[in-house]
Amino acid sequence: MHHMTLAEIARGLTDKKFSSVELTQTLLARIAQLDPQINSFISLTQDLALSQAKAADERRANGESGALLGAPIAHKDLFCTQGIRTSCGSKMLDNFKAPYDATVVAKLAAAGAVTLGKTNMDEFAMGSANESSWYGAVKNPWNLEHVPGGSSGGSAAAVAARLLPAATATDTGGSIRQPAAFTNLTGLKPTYGRVSRWGMIAYASSLDQGGPLARTAEDCAILLQGMAGFDPNDSTSIDEPVPDYSAGLSGSLQGLRIGVPKEYFSAGLDPRIAELIHNSIKELEKLGAVIKEISLPNMQHAIPAYYVIAPAEASSNLSRFDGVRFGYRCENPENLEDLYKRSRGEGFGSEVQRRIMVGAYALSAGYYDAYYLKAQKIRRLVKNDFMSAFNEVDIILGPTTPNPAWKLGAKSSDPVAAYLEDVYTITANLAGLPGLSMPAGFVDGLPVGVQLLAPYFQEGRLLNVAHQYQLNTDWHTRTPTGF
Ligand code: GLN
Repeated sequence: MHHMTLAEIARGLTDKKFSSVELTQTLLARIAQLDPQINSFISLTQDLALSQAKAADERRANGESGALLGAPIAHKDLFCTQGIRTSCGSKMLDNFKAPYDATVVAKLAAAGAVTLGKTNMDEFAMGSANESSWYGAVKNPWNLEHVPGGSSGGSAAAVAARLLPAATATDTGGSIRQPAAFTNLTGLKPTYGRVSRWGMIAYASSLDQGGPLARTAEDCAILLQGMAGFDPNDSTSIDEPVPDYSAGLSGSLQGLRIGVPKEYFSAGLDPRIAELIHNSIKELEKLGAVIKEISLPNMQHAIPAYYVIAPAEASSNLSRFDGVRFGYRCENPENLEDLYKRSRGEGFGSEVQRRIMVGAYALSAGYYDAYYLKAQKIRRLVKNDFMSAFNEVDIILGPTTPNPAWKLGAKSSDPVAAYLEDVYTITANLAGLPGLSMPAGFVDGLPVGVQLLAPYFQEGRLLNVAHQYQLNTDWHTRTPTGF
């Protein structure tokens, strides 16, 4: 049962081959048996899952249907879940039970999805390896000595290990697409404003976006359908109709114009990944796509700009964790200042503290123009590059990451080395564009992802291209040994 995709589960439930309660019990047992190897969950919600599964079975018995009705999922542990620990991977929020559900959580619950638990993540979503979690590192099911990517590493590892078919995730600079690439999954970062951020604990508010992680584009379409839509509670949510993503998967790729940026194939890219990307291009050409070389001249400035903007926003967002209102409070504070200092010093891990310091510095009176303002100007240039490219092409294709998943600990002492691995994903967040990563092959037994980017609100186009590719390739069907 654990090998089924969301689409297969929906068919099985409709045909009464099994019930949601049976499926939920099977997956909970599998999690108990296998998760200790990969550490992909922070909290399990067995009781909630079984009651949601029972309710879903009853709704089906009463004639209701729906692709998510009775489907088991999990939420990255930064989506607020009412009455359930929502830790953001941090000691700071280890004791925090959210007083309300995030919009994404509420929408998926209303659609009948069954929440198995909350998945591990880099602390406050800062990272690319899932090693900064207070709950310990997550291991990559493809090779337990390697990282699964981050910050949504728990969601990715759990889905890759077939502990469940799909999970929610968030992407501020690549945290859906990069772990998808590292674990052989399909992951979609929607257009900024497509999925509500209400109840999603903020890292960098102008970049954060929730989206689906699953094994196939078909499943990403199903999960995104349940997540997307206007939310008056989120002032950056956009009131744009949500298309039927599943219905849009069968479009022909005949004449599809694919832009391949020449800057993507620079010295930093592992040549074996470059070869796999070229193979995926050939595959899409066979399906009728037309390839065109394009240029994104300001790409080289994206990482420095992101690593000013994201920490700046984080330093502001994380000021609310003061030991008074939320989460961790130090023992026996001497006075208010001591309470703030020690609660934050003890509650936040080192990567979070580093980013708060960088961000506060970049925003400080003397340096604002030199760093933050400059970074915002670069952000506009990056966006303009994409706007001119999309005058000529329908999607942009390239690698998701320059290298496959690295060994646990390999980049822990050198944060900048990890930041540089975000080179292909960060630009989409700076511009607010949708992006998808899908499996494209293996290097040394480790998965490689190909990234597709599209104009605003063209998630459907990305899913269609990925689905057509997956109908003609079998990379996404490969399973890690032992799972
Ligand atoms: N790796 C990037 C960072 O550390 C992106 C993280 C994310 O998308 N949440 O900021």
